[in-house]
Amino acid sequence: MIDSARLNLPEFARGSVWLVGAGPGDPGLLSALALHALDRADCIVYDALVDSRILELARAGAVLEYAGKRGGRPSPRQPDISARLIGLAREGRRVLRLKGGDPCVFGRGGEEALALAEARVPFRIVPGITAGIGGLAYAGIPVTHREIASAVTFVTGHASGGTVPDQLDWAAIARGSPIIVLYMALNHLGCIAGRLIAAGRSPREPVAIVSKATTAAQRVVVSCLEDAAAAAARAGVEAPTIVAIGEVVRLRATLDWLGAGDG
Ligand code: SAH
Repeated sequence: MIDSARLNLPEFARGSVWLVGAGPGDPGLLSALALHALDRADCIVYDALVDSRILELARAGAVLEYAGKRGGRPSPRQPDISARLIGLAREGRRVLRLKGGDPCVFGRGGEEALALAEARVPFRIVPGITAGIGGLAYAGIPVTHREIASAVTFVTGHASGGTVPDQLDWAAIARGSPIIVLYMALNHLGCIAGRLIAAGRSPREPVAIVSKATTAAQRVVVSCLEDAAAAAARAGVEAPTIVAIGEVVRLRATLDWLGAGDG
């Protein structure tokens, strides 16, 4: 599929696991290493956020295993997924663990890598384009800008128990980070915005909610901090969504190269 010799790509050895980021959706954002892995893997264990067009790139004969939520049933437990990866590798397969975005950005890639290291299964981490960077680029929002903002914070809006993460120092984030990019935050957007405003952020600060970023169904809703949750509800935006808070959002008015428009 790709010229792996010319690109000097490493061999995908039998009995090893590659933890690979598939990017936010658009197959064009796959890395050469990710394509190489799709071309060589015997078994692909994938998550809900991996775009179906990317799975279609798998080598004919590769076995595809789904490891996400299905039909309202809870997702498989993380230790079970790690054990599955270890088991497949020990059977001598080339195991591709494929995740949306980057495997180590809110993707539990670190947990799986630790389990593989402990089990002494050889592994490689192949970074992917995370939604908080690639998704914003497709919305015409540069994640930093020299004159507007020189620090960005990636935050999960969803703790493992399903609530807003309380161990986070929201006031410090509000004071220290001109751009805040929220993952998994749609359900808690009102609460998070309230905490940021309480810590001194302007209620009028612009917010962009990017739904299904980089796919044909991408939709962007621009509002302001105090109205973001209501704007998301009014527009009926659907998950997955990435939320950008900060003055860089205003650049979209000029930089919306995709031309999707604000919905
Ligand atoms: N590892 C992934 C993130 C997994 S957490 C990455 O690096 O992108 C899941 C969250 O990622 C979603 O709730 C959403 O906030 C974000 N996300 C992933 N893909 C997205 C997409 N195509 N559009 C918008 N948000 C996305």
